[in-house]
Amino acid sequence: MKTQKIIVTGGMGYIGSHTVVALINSGYSIVIVDNLCNSNIVVLKSISEITGVTPEFENIDLTDDNKTAQFFKRHNDAVAVINFAALKAVGESVQKPIWYYKNNLNILLNVLEGMENNAIKNVIFSSSATVYGLPDILPITEEAKTKRPTSPYGNTKKIAEEMMEDFLKVQPNFKGISLRYFNPIGAHESEKIGELPTGIPNNLMPFITQTAVGIRKELKIFGKDYATEDGTAVRDYIHVVDLAEAHVKALKRLLNSEANDNFEVFNLGTGVGYSVLDVVKSFEKTSQQKLNYSFEKRREGDVPELYANPSKANEVLGWNATLTLDDMTASSWNWEQKVRNS
Ligand code: NAD
Ligand code: UDP
Repeated sequence: MKTQKIIVTGGMGYIGSHTVVALINSGYSIVIVDNLCNSNIVVLKSISEITGVTPEFENIDLTDDNKTAQFFKRHNDAVAVINFAALKAVGESVQKPIWYYKNNLNILLNVLEGMENNAIKNVIFSSSATVYGLPDILPITEEAKTKRPTSPYGNTKKIAEEMMEDFLKVQPNFKGISLRYFNPIGAHESEKIGELPTGIPNNLMPFITQTAVGIRKELKIFGKDYATEDGTAVRDYIHVVDLAEAHVKALKRLLNSEANDNFEVFNLGTGVGYSVLDVVKSFEKTSQQKLNYSFEKRREGDVPELYANPSKANEVLGWNATLTLDDMTASSWNWEQKVRNS
């Protein structure tokens, strides 16, 4: 049987590259499209070293209508698209809202149009737990109402899901799945791919590892007065390798026509909430490093606690997160050291 071809937008990035590895290992043929605005061409070589396969790669800005239309025409034999491409820095999106709305929403519009014009009928979208805003009930199920996210970045996810829903309503033969990620951290065990933030990291894990290697002076923990066990905010951290596997399961559900509805959403988390101090303690244990940290006031827009009820993904996709918080902090630390020593 001919291998099925999957278009992966943003496949050179952090989550995309791990998913490309999982897809190749599951026998799919991949074409990555990415403009490298937040990734590096060396990732292609790393994917090839891990899997023994070099995926096709095209350097295209997906907000370019013409180039994207041509790209889809060239790859009209693809059976699905996984759309990772987006800008993702929350703080930057507050400063540059137009840039974020333009980039993230035009990418999705061009992707959906490319699918429509070339009868590529399946799409998976990278969404985020940010669409739940300040949750009323924890753990959060997919039934919870989405709310206006606090940042323009978050709002691009909410609007993108609504755009997909509207598109799929009038395209009953097309199917889409939106995956709502909680807090992806960690790196591939090969130490060949991982998160590579540019500039000062916004996110907790890269800030911890960069502090431990001495690039940052200390971690500032935002808030110690939350109504949580130790006063620091709680999140559902999920290993990027587990997250990548969920995409393979979601893809199989689409390609095997198992979906009940032509637009489905799934939470991707472990279901366990850890505080910032839990993450710091796990890092200190797995890395054998003492971390410099101090407490700061709460960060604006942060919710006290956010963790998933992942039962729907567990039962319907047959997917379970298997890696622990210690696996996550250990692999992030190995990756950081590898990056600094190469
Ligand atoms: P990333 O920045 O590492 O990867 C995104 C990729 O998209 C990059 O390689 C970038 O070069 C590419 N890209 C951006 N704009 C593009 C454009 N106009 N044309 C072509 N390529 C473009 O980010 P990531 O962490 O791998 O995130 C992947 C997806 O998951 C994003 O949609 C992100 O919003 C979403 N997400 C990420 C997290 C997280 O914590 N990392 C959490 C929830 C959702
Ligand atoms: N955080 C922190 N210091 C940092 C970065 C993050 O204390 O330098 C906290 C943040 O307040 C939140 C948690 O770590 O409670 C996870 O933040 P991150 O930005 O990684 O993800 P978010 O949940 O905001 O998407």
